[in-house]
Amino acid sequence: MRLSRYFLPVLKETPSEAQIVSHRYMLRAGMIKQAQAGIYSWLPLGFKVLRKIEDIIHQEQARAGHIPLLMPTLQSADLWRESGRYDAYGEEMLRITDRHGRDMLYTPTAEELITDIFRSNVSSYKDLPLTLYQIQWKFRDEIRPRFGVMRGREFLMKDGYNFDLTREDALHAYNRHLVSYLRSYERMGLQAIPMRADSGPIGGEDTHEFLVLADTGESEVFYDSQITDLKFGDRAIDFDSVEQCQAVMEEFTSRYARTDETHVQAEFETQVPQDRRRTARGIEVGQIFYFGTKYSDALNATVNDGQGKDVAVHMGSHGIGVSRLLGAIIEASHDDKGIIWPEGVTPFHCGIVNLKQGDAEADAACDSLHAALVALGLDPLYDDRKERAGAKFATMDLIGLPWRITVGPRGLKNGVVELTSRRTGESEELPPEAAVAKIA
Ligand code: ATP
Ligand code: MG
Ligand code: MG
Ligand code: MG
Repeated sequence: MRLSRYFLPVLKETPSEAQIVSHRYMLRAGMIKQAQAGIYSWLPLGFKVLRKIEDIIHQEQARAGHIPLLMPTLQSADLWRESGRYDAYGEEMLRITDRHGRDMLYTPTAEELITDIFRSNVSSYKDLPLTLYQIQWKFRDEIRPRFGVMRGREFLMKDGYNFDLTREDALHAYNRHLVSYLRSYERMGLQAIPMRADSGPIGGEDTHEFLVLADTGESEVFYDSQITDLKFGDRAIDFDSVEQCQAVMEEFTSRYARTDETHVQAEFETQVPQDRRRTARGIEVGQIFYFGTKYSDALNATVNDGQGKDVAVHMGSHGIGVSRLLGAIIEASHDDKGIIWPEGVTPFHCGIVNLKQGDAEADAACDSLHAALVALGLDPLYDDRKERAGAKFATMDLIGLPWRITVGPRGLKNGVVELTSRRTGESEELPPEAAVAKIA
């Protein structure tokens, strides 16, 4: 992509309404534009990262055997009356009336609708286990939308729902989600720690939240410092194996790690030696629930159990804050010049800066670098504007691509370009082909 043909409305001024760094950088880097309080347009650069995050989630859900579908954002109030949540949900639910006077709502989550799909189509234990999920916009009329996409009113969520015959099967589904989430967050360059949490209006018995440690996080968290040494890495896992998933669950959740809602100081002190006790702040980027037959009882979602009985299915729901993740990633990875994208979610793989646009040799070298990178399946952003070098560097630093290749007539005389790592700031001079090889 040539920057001169792209749409990257970078702001020079720091927007005064943005209180935290991720919000400031997302506005300055032209990733989002507020449309109304807590509602954003996703400009091309922000949209690109959003899609990358979605791709990772889809890939990891597929690996776990979970099946994507898509449900509408506007739902009928009647289903929510059946579960009792139409009244119970409160002011966060946006309620709408259509021209015929029918009550509708903008989905804040989708347990009711997915359970309706299930009960209309599945009646035998033979069709279980089943886990369906979607990545779809949600609306919650947050009392205080703030921090940009971190606490929006309209936001993108991955929400998955498992249907199982028994409690044991449903707990296996719970563990599968835990493993797939660990893998997903790590691929996004994040450490998200599962912590025991409170179930809130979704209801249920077992639940963990995934938290990214950050001073700007809205949750207070208490944990054993050993937990931050855990990495899932790229170990192979068989998602059908109850034992393997259970082992990962135990490894990642046996140490003390809780949000303020479930924290008990006395237990913290007996379970964790003083030098390992940590109190910090965290950003909730996901949550998994097992809630048994709460919704299947209310909505009459049963299957034949093979022994002549109809039984309510055991369910859970599992969410990832897709749009909030952009904020969380930036909070976890930036410096005073801008964003530093982890490789897994970067909007472009590298930037090309032409120091002397219009110089035949420099232009040709940039064009061939661009072509070589594209040929390798990479996605470079070529700053071909007639701008000062300083302005080009500032833009590249702000938008945070992992690599920058700087091309100028002086280097080209010696057959070299400069390759700079955004994360370390280290530069080296090398022939263009070697720079391409290093990025690929
Ligand atoms: P919070 O405690 O931050 O209000 P929640 O517990 O109400 O979140 P869940 O119902 O667990 O949210 O939804 C799943 C995920 O959706 C959350 O873990 C979070 O990452 C994301 N999310 C929830 N509310 C918002 C919001 N207003 N804006 C952006 N993302 C959100
Ligand atoms: Mg909430
Ligand atoms: Mg919460
Ligand atoms: Mg939650």
